[in-house]
Amino acid sequence: MKILVINCGSSSLKYQLFEMDNEKVLAKGIVERIGINGSVLTHKVGSEKFIKETPMNNHTDAIKYVIEALVDKEHGVISHLSEINAVGHRVVHGGERYSKSAIVNDEVLSDLEDLSKLAPLHNPANIIGIKACRELMPNVPMVIVFDTSFHQTMPKNAYMYAIPYEIYEKYGVRKYGFHGTSHDYVAHKAAEFLGKNIEDLKIITCHLGNGSSLCAVDGGKSIDTSMGFTPLEGIAMGTRSGDIDPAVIPFLVKETGKDIDEILNILNKQSGVLGLSGVSSDFRDIEAAKDEGNERAKLALEVFCYRVKKYIGAYIAALGGIDVIVFTAGVGENGPYTRKECCRGLEFLGIKLDDELNKVRGELKEISTEDSKVKVLVVPTDEELMIARDTKALTS
Ligand code: ADP
Repeated sequence: MKILVINCGSSSLKYQLFEMDNEKVLAKGIVERIGINGSVLTHKVGSEKFIKETPMNNHTDAIKYVIEALVDKEHGVISHLSEINAVGHRVVHGGERYSKSAIVNDEVLSDLEDLSKLAPLHNPANIIGIKACRELMPNVPMVIVFDTSFHQTMPKNAYMYAIPYEIYEKYGVRKYGFHGTSHDYVAHKAAEFLGKNIEDLKIITCHLGNGSSLCAVDGGKSIDTSMGFTPLEGIAMGTRSGDIDPAVIPFLVKETGKDIDEILNILNKQSGVLGLSGVSSDFRDIEAAKDEGNERAKLALEVFCYRVKKYIGAYIAALGGIDVIVFTAGVGENGPYTRKECCRGLEFLGIKLDDELNKVRGELKEISTEDSKVKVLVVPTDEELMIARDTKALTS
């Protein structure tokens, strides 16, 4: 069975084609600058790379070129479109309606349009991708996997904001949480690696990438997570502020003369470690600057790690204990310095990192000392595989 996984953004589209019999990636790629000058598709089969630069006016064009690349005589991996048995789509927001993945039909698509008001930056692009695929592959079953679904098990005391209850009822304002497929995948992978039943484990998963979030996973279920109504809440991120006093927003509107959208843009795109350091949103650049004595780069990393540590502490309390801490995503998988700083001072809780083992990058590995009560692991995430598995389960 072959499954195509699509992750569609407003001007980009990432894809992976899986052979599900052995869960191998046959080909993957990205289309960038859709609808703007300089559209380009980068298609990879193993270590071979094929680049096509051609105008693409919209997502339907982009998917046409993806299909063309997949069936291409030289760079392709299938001989005909009909070999794709199903398509799995990543969608950011499933609201309270979707606690599981769903098969695409007209009703689900109309629900998604409704949910766009909760995720105006993400869902509309996801919907465009689904519609474009349906146009080009009308008879292929499609599945939507939501970033929010995994967190629908959070108890009400964890997801409610302390604001008038009617605002929750009328507008759906509550914590939803994101990165669900990643937290779900790495928590299960960690249990499998340790040879334990996930139902017996209290796990904190730290997804530290450009966007970052932590999740408290009790017995395989999310009971709390750091992102909220939108992916802006929680720890500091590459360019997002994370937690901030909401009163700062009207204060800045008054003081700067900027409107709310401009202030939100600052909080989403110009804040986090980029805003603090003034160097970059990329942790490699910030670490290099810190090593050269840049004080603000040092501060940015300190703020980031301190916040992660605070959430770890909070989630140990929420879970009533802790067996495993997992680091994943770009920084979590590749950042020994960040991992060490996030765990520094937690030895009294039985969390001890082994400096030698902690040098690992991008590999599934235990990085805690032998006598550490809590197992600390690096687990590379694989959201696309998770989407492909759900798509297979719902369509076969
Ligand atoms: P996204 O949220 O865009 O999926 P990723 O999970 O790819 O983000 O993470 C991107 C981040 O990972 C970047 O800030 C980058 O600095 C960081 N990263 C990648 N490789 C390394 C590395 N070798 N050392 C430290 N940070 C790294």
